[in-house]
Amino acid sequence: MNEQRDMFSIININNKNPDSDIPKDVKLRPKELWCPYCSKPVIFIKDKELGVRKCPYCKVSDRDYNVKKINKKWL
Ligand SMILES: [Zn+2]
Repeated sequence: MNEQRDMFSIININNKNPDSDIPKDVKLRPKELWCPYCSKPVIFIKDKELGVRKCPYCKVSDRDYNVKKINKKWL
């Protein structure tokens, strides 16, 4: 699981200018997405009330333009 690694990245970077590309040396695991605002791989957590998935750090949703763009998820 990813909890242990995430313990090291509790401090939120929260980019004002989101990443436009995932760094080449990064390999995302299943279910992970690259958060362009936190500059790290995260597992987006489902928000039952809103019906979207959100980054647990910066709360951006997976419907955010930059999240979709960088993860190439055009659903
Ligand atoms: Zn984030």
